[in-house]
Amino acid sequence: MKSQYIQQAQKILVLSDRIDPRVYSDVCKERFHDVDFIVSCGDLPEYYLDFVVSNLNVPLFFVHGNHDPSGSKQSLAGGVNLDEKVVYFQGLLLAGLEGSVWYNGGIHQYSQRAMYFKYLKMVPCLKWKKLKYGRSIDILVTHAPPAGLHEGDDLPHKGFYAFTLINKKYAPHYHFHGHTHLYDHKQSRRDSLCETTVINAYGFQVVEIGETT
Ligand SMILES: [Zn+2]
Repeated sequence: MKSQYIQQAQKILVLSDRIDPRVYSDVCKERFHDVDFIVSCGDLPEYYLDFVVSNLNVPLFFVHGNHDPSGSKQSLAGGVNLDEKVVYFQGLLLAGLEGSVWYNGGIHQYSQRAMYFKYLKMVPCLKWKKLKYGRSIDILVTHAPPAGLHEGDDLPHKGFYAFTLINKKYAPHYHFHGHTHLYDHKQSRRDSLCETTVINAYGFQVVEIGETT
């Protein structure tokens, strides 16, 4: 069972795409006081991330989205850019891949093939983590969804096959993504892909990992 690897229960605030008034609020600190760290799945301005980080005073991990107003900045709000990286933090292995499917040549846009090559660049690190920790990824963080789940009908909102492959091959507990806007409560935001729970973090989601996983 994968659960044996999670050493301690942790609460994660996952943000994406939209400034949520429940987060960008005077009671942010009160409401999310027990969050252990923050993950941003992209397309959020740095001032918003700065606000959340300084209120909660916990680490931030992020990937850039295709509409990222911060351009190609390597760090946002003092956070760790997860793109093409696998980071070990408080007993969890976090891996990230930024951006969306290529549609007009903008920054942080990739063809399916280009995203597959970004994934290939991570393979040596994934293998090393497997040797060291007994598994490669606990949480996959991306902006776009995996192909076949939570994707839109138009080209810019298609998912990446490389993400589906990663979920099937490495079976992370979670895959956090954004990019797909949710317009009503009928649209599903948490679904399974093999052994992975895929969460669309549009706005925000609080995810508790450890006790029940
Ligand atoms: Zn996007």
